Amino acid sequence: MIDIKSLTMEEITDLLHGWGEPAFRGRQVFTWLHRGVTSFEDMSNLSKALRQKLAEACYITAPTVARRQESALDGTIKYLWRLGDGNCIETVLMQYHHGNTVCISSQVGCRMGCAFCASTIAGKVRDLTPSEMLDQVLFTQLDSGRDISNIVLMGIGEPMDNRENVLRFLELVNHPEGMNIGMRHISLSTCGVVPGIDALADLNLQLTLSVSLHAPDSETRSRIMPVNKAYDVEELFAACHRYFQKTGRRISFEYAMIDGVNDNDWQADLIAKRIKGMPGHVNLIPLNDVVESPFKPSRRVAAFQKRLESHGITATVRRSLGGDIDASCGQLRRKAMEEEGKR
Ligand code: SAH
Repeated sequence: MIDIKSLTMEEITDLLHGWGEPAFRGRQVFTWLHRGVTSFEDMSNLSKALRQKLAEACYITAPTVARRQESALDGTIKYLWRLGDGNCIETVLMQYHHGNTVCISSQVGCRMGCAFCASTIAGKVRDLTPSEMLDQVLFTQLDSGRDISNIVLMGIGEPMDNRENVLRFLELVNHPEGMNIGMRHISLSTCGVVPGIDALADLNLQLTLSVSLHAPDSETRSRIMPVNKAYDVEELFAACHRYFQKTGRRISFEYAMIDGVNDNDWQADLIAKRIKGMPGHVNLIPLNDVVESPFKPSRRVAAFQKRLESHGITATVRRSLGGDIDASCGQLRRKAMEEEGKR
């Protein structure tokens, strides 16, 4: 069976062409899929015979809402979706003054092993398909009734560990006949998978690259992020500089502030030194307390920000949303897993 929503419009057109259908049918089917139709039966402008043929050869993914929590504080909605095979993934919808942003997952679980992150505790189960990433945007929009204008690939999973599916998802969600979300409204975050950064640089997309830095020195970074043993922070920064050279685009560095681990002034100085030569932006994140982790939130966020700014680096402190609904970093999925006693 073909996962038809993971196909581009051209691929659907080719498939139907092979069945003797005219070219415009591909566009019709693509449009239906990207409006959230869940059955070929509902594609009312296709012949009965074609609908049947499609249903025999293809399936349409459609997650169901396993849980939905809405913050009373700021309207953030957190979805736990159940996928076709029973696995669950998280999606978060946030309201900002510039529009609605959806934070989507790229994998079921994660194998990157960052020591402070709840998403990786039980490891990776599998990659998400392009359709399953698209569905998070599509069905969040349909369920909430809020128009989504921005996407961040900052949910569960490492996008660069599922690169081909992620790139295909970007092409789908960006399509003018589909959700038509502009690349400038999309951010992709990586823990520092260097070949992924280079591949993205070659594509020269208009999206924003975020790099989860969390420590500028090799010793600390290896301690909290195993990926640093494969791609050392010096190599990572070399890739970031290459990315800037090729694309001219500013990189956003994510930095979760951990008490006594990465919040020393010398580390701010080292960040500035490594960023020098390109316009970098540092986004300081107050650490979310993860029950299973020994790390505590830093009390030096403001001082660290000042120190960075003293070197001419722009640094912001991320505002926390959904504080009343476990809205961050794999916490809802873990909770549901514990309660169900599985996965
Ligand atoms: N795997 C990708 C995409 C996930 S983005 C990446 O690492 O970039 C999720 C972001 O939240 C990452 O920057 C991650 O490091 C950060 N994060 C994870 N656990 C956190 C915690 N307990 N507190 C604050 N930020 C955290």
